[in-house]
Amino acid sequence: MKIMILEGDGIGPEITKQAVKVLKAFNLANNIEYALIGGAAYEKYNDPLPQATLDLAIKSDAILLGAVGDWKYDKLPRDKRPEQGLLRIRQSLNLFANLRPAIMFPELSHASSLKPEVVSGLDIMIIRELTGDIYFGEPRGVSVNQNNQREGINTMRYSESEIVRIAHIAFKSAQLRKKKLCSVDKANVLETTELWREIFTEIAKNYPDVTLTHMYVDNAAMQLVRDPKQFDVIATGNIFGDILSDQASMLTGSIGMLPSASLDENNKGMYEPSHGSAPDIAGKNIANPLATILSLAMMFKYTFNDEKKFIAIEKAVRKTLQEGFRTQDIYAAGSRLIGCDEMGDVVVERLEV
Ligand code: NAD
Repeated sequence: MKIMILEGDGIGPEITKQAVKVLKAFNLANNIEYALIGGAAYEKYNDPLPQATLDLAIKSDAILLGAVGDWKYDKLPRDKRPEQGLLRIRQSLNLFANLRPAIMFPELSHASSLKPEVVSGLDIMIIRELTGDIYFGEPRGVSVNQNNQREGINTMRYSESEIVRIAHIAFKSAQLRKKKLCSVDKANVLETTELWREIFTEIAKNYPDVTLTHMYVDNAAMQLVRDPKQFDVIATGNIFGDILSDQASMLTGSIGMLPSASLDENNKGMYEPSHGSAPDIAGKNIANPLATILSLAMMFKYTFNDEKKFIAIEKAVRKTLQEGFRTQDIYAAGSRLIGCDEMGDVVVERLEV
């Protein structure tokens, strides 16, 4: 079991440190190797994804990533920016399936911006295609057009095989849950997503036990806040999934609660919280590490097939919340406010190894 740790930037090092405490509690300290990515890698190697990091990632079974990015890098040439490191590692390892569960822990129903009755019991799985779409399509760039005006171009693009493989993941995932799959697109306007809808409909024939519905992304955004519990599994492309999963995170109380797994065909995976590097709170010991710790739990479930450790971590997080421990983002009067570092300790103390 080889686990690579990429701390990244901003709050990345603080939150991954808490997940590493869990790995140490499982006696897996010797299975960990660290490497640099994002701004941290750019500072040292002038490259947000150095070859040494990629080589180690290829040799590892699973990767735990904090987050990358800082506004101070926003003026760098695009290929040097931290976010490019992330896009490149996802693409190089073919991590095309991004699983983002949005689960409402009952103790946090007050922390959601929606009424408790709308979100209590919420359990959605968002499946986002991660290596295609407008984030990778060519041509792209900013140039000067014939009218001597600057013009920006990005290209939304999906091939049939890219849609087919994510569709199978989505249907299989629905089979293990409530057997309801909602495919989200913008087929009324975008041809690329018309193809997406067509292919999902074709593949549905292989999964007669799953009920497939389709929804336009603008409606899906609205339905997610109106009646989120109507959803079981949502499958969508890269850009729509990026936005909808951030939106879904707020249903659960905080973006600091939302884990994710990015998997290849063989369930090798990179596990990371759904949020970014939060430069505004970095170094203050106030970030919520639970999304990162829950991402580690997903690593045991999906890559290592170790349901026991997955459940143990989830249970420890639930106990922590039940006992009233809160970081600032999920704090409510009467609960026990603690920092990022303490949150890691409290979870480990409640871990049954
Ligand atoms: P962000 O997710 O970093 O932060 C959005 C808001 O949520 C901020 O107010 C932040 O303080 C808060 N927040 C995020 N994580 C939190 C946590 N664990 N606990 C408590 N509060 C938390 O998004 P942003 O501000 O738009 O972007 C900041 C940087 O992160 C940018 O450079 C962006 O490119 C990058 N980014 C990286 C990833 C990634 O590494 N996967 C994802 C999104 C954004």
